[in-house]
Amino acid sequence: MTLAQRWAGVDPGSVSSEPAAEWWLMRAGDLHRLVSLLTVEFDEVFGPVAVDGVIRVRQIHSLADLPIGVTEEQETASYRLHETGTALRFSYGLGPDSLKSIVHPPRSPVWTMRRQDGSLVVDPALHGTTTRAVIGARACDIRALEILERTQTGGPHADPAFTARRSELFVVAIDCTHPAPTCFCKTAGQGPAADQGFDLAVTELDDPNGVVYLVRAGTDRGRSMMFALHLGYAPPRQIERRTRALEEANRDFIRELPNDASDVVRQTDHPQWEVVAERCLTCGNCTAVCPTCFCTDMEDRVGLDGETATRTRVWDTCFSQEYSHLGPGPHRASTAARYRQWLSHKLGTWHDQFGESGCVGCGRCITWCPVGIDLTAEIESLSLDPLSRPSEEMP
Ligand code: SF4
Ligand code: SF4
Repeated sequence: MTLAQRWAGVDPGSVSSEPAAEWWLMRAGDLHRLVSLLTVEFDEVFGPVAVDGVIRVRQIHSLADLPIGVTEEQETASYRLHETGTALRFSYGLGPDSLKSIVHPPRSPVWTMRRQDGSLVVDPALHGTTTRAVIGARACDIRALEILERTQTGGPHADPAFTARRSELFVVAIDCTHPAPTCFCKTAGQGPAADQGFDLAVTELDDPNGVVYLVRAGTDRGRSMMFALHLGYAPPRQIERRTRALEEANRDFIRELPNDASDVVRQTDHPQWEVVAERCLTCGNCTAVCPTCFCTDMEDRVGLDGETATRTRVWDTCFSQEYSHLGPGPHRASTAARYRQWLSHKLGTWHDQFGESGCVGCGRCITWCPVGIDLTAEIESLSLDPLSRPSEEMP
């Protein structure tokens, strides 16, 4: 009997609010066995992969696909991978991909239409037959997954594609012991260690006797996985080392964002919107990398033979002029209006719609903005009284 069969009837969403009391110890060989077990139990397994000098989330087939001995330097508009020569597998911060790319992919089929016996037949895309697992999820991305879930399934028209991809997703979290300078998850309310929403959570520690991994389970199916690997429990000494590593990571955060910046971003006539618009290219990179941005468009294509057509849902962005095209033209024609829409939705009206902020502090929009626009700096500027600003910064 496979673990998947044993899990039949176990609610995969039954996540403990507190980490399990048990802490297991893994070494590199055990991590290899864990990844192998995931590839046996799930149709698709995703994890961090170094692609063209960037850590991406991609389908993996063995532990060998994961990077080893690399770290990254990232700041506003800059990202570089470096080799460290260590045996660490997770000694880097976030890359541009989040769990969004798994549960709400950039392209998702909706239906196919074909001619049959003189009429048109529509075949809806089938969802829900593929099981998936991911290794390497960070605390901020797990939080973003919960936020995304509320936006995609919380209303009367739940998205079946999202539901199918999310409901069976087995999540192996990695605690962040190397947060990037662009991260500010701590002031956004979570991290750097995962404290909920995972099946298994892992802390990687460099040890004189080789790299070790401390594992805790958050669900029954995660616990079953640990029992299947026959691991020993972690000694208290390693758990203390983990505490120290996370305390150190906590000291590394340099950016902050107020938990509720609603009032600040609702100042629709603040001159800072025009100041930031001078720099913003409206490229939409920030929305593509943001783990909670979910705007989409529909793309219809007709086959050259005229016999078939497909509809595909594709990511879109509120930075596109066309996105707000209503009747006579774009509703948000200026760059200032579009940047204001993005930030005031993310940090302001998201609270009205979903009862929380739409930002988890991952910092991706700071790293991947080609002109280095930093939302934490924008909030600081928007918090200033416009009359107190130096005159050269006024539009
Ligand atoms: S804020 Fe930066 S990433 Fe976002 S649209 Fe403007 S230039 Fe592009
Ligand atoms: S707004 Fe920026 S920092 Fe916040 S969740 Fe989105 S990408 Fe991350």
